[in-house]
Amino acid sequence: MSDAAPTTIYLKDYTPFGYLIDSVHLTFDLAAHATRVTSRIAFRPNPDARDRKFFLHGEQLRLIRAAIDGAEIAPEVTDEGLTANVPNAPFVWETEVEIDPGNNTALEGLYMSNGMYCTQCEAEGFRKITFYPDRPDVMSTFTVRINGDLPVLLSNGNPTASGQGWAEWTDPWPKPAYLFALVAGDLIAYPDQFTTKSGRGVELNLWVRPGDEGKCAFGMEALKKSMKWDEEVYGREYDLDVFNIVAVDDFNMGAMENKGLNIFNSSAVLASPETSTDANFERIEAIIAHEYFHNWTGNRITCRDWFQLCLKEGLTVFRDAQFTSDMRSAPVKRIHDAIDLRARQFPEDNGPLSHPVRPESFQEINNFYTSTVYEKGAEVIGMLKRLVGDEAYSKALNLYFDRHDGQACTIEDWLKVFEDTTGRDLTQFKRWYSQSGTPRISVSESWDSGTYTLTLSQETHPTPGQTEKLPQVIPVAFGLLGPNGDEVRGTQVLELTEATQSFQFTGLAAKPNPSILRDFSAPVILDHGHSNADRAFLLAHDTDPFNRWQAGRSLAEDNLFRMITQDSAPDGQFLDGLLAVLRDGDLDPAYRALMLQLPSQSELASTLYDSGHTPDPLAIWTAIETLKQATAQHVQDLLPRLHSESLVDAPYQPDAEQSGKRALGNAALALTTRLDSGTQAAAEYDRANNMTQQLASLACLLRAGKGETQLSSFYDQWQHDRLVLDKWFGLQISLASPDATPAVALGLTQHPEFNWKNPNRFRALLGSLATNHAGFHHADGSGYQLLADWLIRLDPVNPQTTARMCTAFQTWKRYDDKRQALMRAQLTRISETPNLSRDTTEMVSRILDA
Ligand SMILES: [Zn+2]
Repeated sequence: MSDAAPTTIYLKDYTPFGYLIDSVHLTFDLAAHATRVTSRIAFRPNPDARDRKFFLHGEQLRLIRAAIDGAEIAPEVTDEGLTANVPNAPFVWETEVEIDPGNNTALEGLYMSNGMYCTQCEAEGFRKITFYPDRPDVMSTFTVRINGDLPVLLSNGNPTASGQGWAEWTDPWPKPAYLFALVAGDLIAYPDQFTTKSGRGVELNLWVRPGDEGKCAFGMEALKKSMKWDEEVYGREYDLDVFNIVAVDDFNMGAMENKGLNIFNSSAVLASPETSTDANFERIEAIIAHEYFHNWTGNRITCRDWFQLCLKEGLTVFRDAQFTSDMRSAPVKRIHDAIDLRARQFPEDNGPLSHPVRPESFQEINNFYTSTVYEKGAEVIGMLKRLVGDEAYSKALNLYFDRHDGQACTIEDWLKVFEDTTGRDLTQFKRWYSQSGTPRISVSESWDSGTYTLTLSQETHPTPGQTEKLPQVIPVAFGLLGPNGDEVRGTQVLELTEATQSFQFTGLAAKPNPSILRDFSAPVILDHGHSNADRAFLLAHDTDPFNRWQAGRSLAEDNLFRMITQDSAPDGQFLDGLLAVLRDGDLDPAYRALMLQLPSQSELASTLYDSGHTPDPLAIWTAIETLKQATAQHVQDLLPRLHSESLVDAPYQPDAEQSGKRALGNAALALTTRLDSGTQAAAEYDRANNMTQQLASLACLLRAGKGETQLSSFYDQWQHDRLVLDKWFGLQISLASPDATPAVALGLTQHPEFNWKNPNRFRALLGSLATNHAGFHHADGSGYQLLADWLIRLDPVNPQTTARMCTAFQTWKRYDDKRQALMRAQLTRISETPNLSRDTTEMVSRILDA
């Protein structure tokens, strides 16, 4: 990183690169501290470009030699790249550079993890491998030769030749450099195969470190399911002879969709019943599907520039959510997605880091791999599908794949296929891509002799850089229930396009009860204006599973809100409604478990802040604890039945049915522990034969202030397993009492197993501190200080992970003056650190400037 002031890059400044590339040949001579990379690149002038400046990106490269058509040249080299005079005609460019993967702790470009070479090139890592136009709109075929004294040598595409100490790979599909990958190491294959619908045989391999072979079966099954699903639902077939997945311990993200060679964080692919929870299995299945689906939405059709990141990510997150809904329970998945969106995306959308789904400027693109681009980006696709209908969506997608295969595209290209398929004008819809902030919808209604009128108003608060907001197109899925709970109008989609708009329903026998925003049909904040009686009615009767859950959630939230602001007691209406739902044995256990989950502390902090209160973290924590205790007492008689309903008398499977039962059983166990001081949890811990049960019972014990013995036996049992040890670190901090949290976290930073340079371990410890709301916001500021200490320490080693974790401070302006001052002091301390990375500088200054 240079010390120069960071430059801002704008979407409006896009110009095509002056040259096209016909082919790339790379040779790697691997050595831990002196890897040689030789490139031979066939360039020709781009007829569509006016600017013919020949600039190749390159960072931290030692240039040994450069040549054009065989003649050596001496290009001008800076910290950021290289400039040369080149012919105005096709030419062959060659360079040889030396790089140091052994000292690459940032984990971008070519680096080492436990003696294994691997790469991460998205977004701009390839420029740390060789000089290249490192931008997604420059696509080419790649041939790669790897020379290295390691048993397994992998790159993109198909293997075309190999011998002792070398291998050659050829990728026939043109791709941008960010999809380049190389892996070399002492790895073991977990092999399988897949036959595509047109009969192509594909060799599948999951490559792992020796000792991890037993954790591959689930990931492999998930891959085959994904391949089949994409054929059946989207008509997309795999297009190479091999598909390789590699598990890597040191990785900044979850996984990466490099063409034919996906690289995964170990935590996102390795799983066994003994070491992984049901939630881990579900996440792994979704991530494997996600990266596989990128083969078409991302790789075959890629992004023109990084502003279009949502083109591949929004669509692929949407596709992986569809996959999970098909493999598991659609309502449960939808509720999980809404919880997640409200927890991560809403605070971002309504705070200092707010940005549109398609940002218009950035300093460091790594900082825009956000929940807004990914999850809100997926919500935008879901809304589009709901507006045009399933059939038109399918047609539009087919047109997209036909029209744009092999291209680098924009959001305009994406929307055009929908306009061309449906004849619909999407000009207003496009505001979802350009306008930041979460729209808020308020509701009023009237009833007049058989006619029900619903009036919806939308408003979006100002966000950084955007003060004036225009009305958006919001699909509001809607239904009406009669006074006896029968559905009198089935679900239909109301299109809210104006600031205020009314919808009339005639011919009704009695005043109906509205069910608004069914299936969470848009990523908005809905103020129903409901009374608690309305909520209790919907909780009892709504035919839409999402809204039924939402009614219970709103009752809980209202109760907690009054407990915090008015010193109210836990409320019978909520507790009775909850009891009725829990008693209903026809309801999916996973769904009932979700009903028992109260709003999170940070979600309550948002609600309080939005309604003009200053959130007091300790008061929020206390209210939640009090309501949980009251719930335990209220449903006490039902707990043994819930426990027996949750028993599984079949071998462990991480499928929806079994994991739903375990979720309900563990939610019941958490309540039981509040009444029996941990007797049952201790017995469950001793009995547990899978990680889901073991971790859940340990959590119950720790929450009850017990479990010292179990915690240390857990450590002894699992100290050899790095992924389980991450859980051991995280759990203690997540469950520490507000007072003890910073001290517990500080103590664990001194543990010999705290390998802070490993992103998973760093996040397990410091990430858990940041998400323990009342503990992180300890009034003395020690939580803030500890996190800032470690961010300052990590920044020179790994800027990407540091910058991402600065988001812990993004809500700092919500809190009281004293906490604000404490957080500002830490943010300022970080920002004044000498040689702070570009990534972290941008994040901290955006947060501070709010
Ligand atoms: Zn992705």
